[in-house]
Amino acid sequence: MARPILIANWKMNVPAIGAKHFVRDAAGVVNAAVEMVVAPPFPFLSEAVTAAESHGGKIAIAAQNCHDKASGAFTGEVSTSMLQQLGVSMVIIGHSERRQFFGDTDEWIGRKLAAARAAGLMPVFCVGEDEATYERGATMELIERQLREAFRVAGSDLSPLVIAYEPVWAIGTGKNATPEIAARTHRGIRSIVKEIAPSAEYRVIYGGSVTPANARELASSEEIEGFLVGGASLEVTKFLAIYEALQDAAVAI
Ligand code: PEP
Repeated sequence: MARPILIANWKMNVPAIGAKHFVRDAAGVVNAAVEMVVAPPFPFLSEAVTAAESHGGKIAIAAQNCHDKASGAFTGEVSTSMLQQLGVSMVIIGHSERRQFFGDTDEWIGRKLAAARAAGLMPVFCVGEDEATYERGATMELIERQLREAFRVAGSDLSPLVIAYEPVWAIGTGKNATPEIAARTHRGIRSIVKEIAPSAEYRVIYGGSVTPANARELASSEEIEGFLVGGASLEVTKFLAIYEALQDAAVAI
């Protein structure tokens, strides 16, 4: 099994403890068994990078979005080379909130993925179905379109990357996918990627209402190679409890 990865997506929030102290506390726990990543809002990236470096460089810092162009008249946007110069090493691309509220299309997501790779940032590429699609039983059709279109635009050489399966109906709702649902979808994702990018190196992680209460059960599935965590990543104790669940599962599998 690949090394599991745990990613904190703070969205437009900062934990009460502050970015610097969150990273300090998390760095005290992180070890070689499970990779840890923290994705703060843009204004806190620099503080998080400095804190991560001063606590042994064991935590990677990710941005939550990027633009696909290197520079230009794109008010409010940030390029991948700017992120790379800040010391950021990963970027979340295609999160459902970006697709839903900010007009990120499959095509644009593909261009962002290519820009991330060109700047040496590892993409965390999010895919997932809305509730109506899930209810219709059309999850894999939708995810197949998201994967095919993004890889078509970006080119198949995106390795290494993380693909995050995030069912929209599970994000921030308290209603997580069961390990069986997640595992089935992860297998579907792998079979599509095998066809469209046979040599891609990637991990498939799950996101959607992961908490300390459900992390162990989810982590026990071999198909789940980590988590993308929103709400529960805003409290360092909860986030570290999820880390511990992944670490215990990694030892047991
Ligand atoms: C997310 O924002 O990617 C996410 C999974 O959020 P939450 O954990 O709050 O459902």
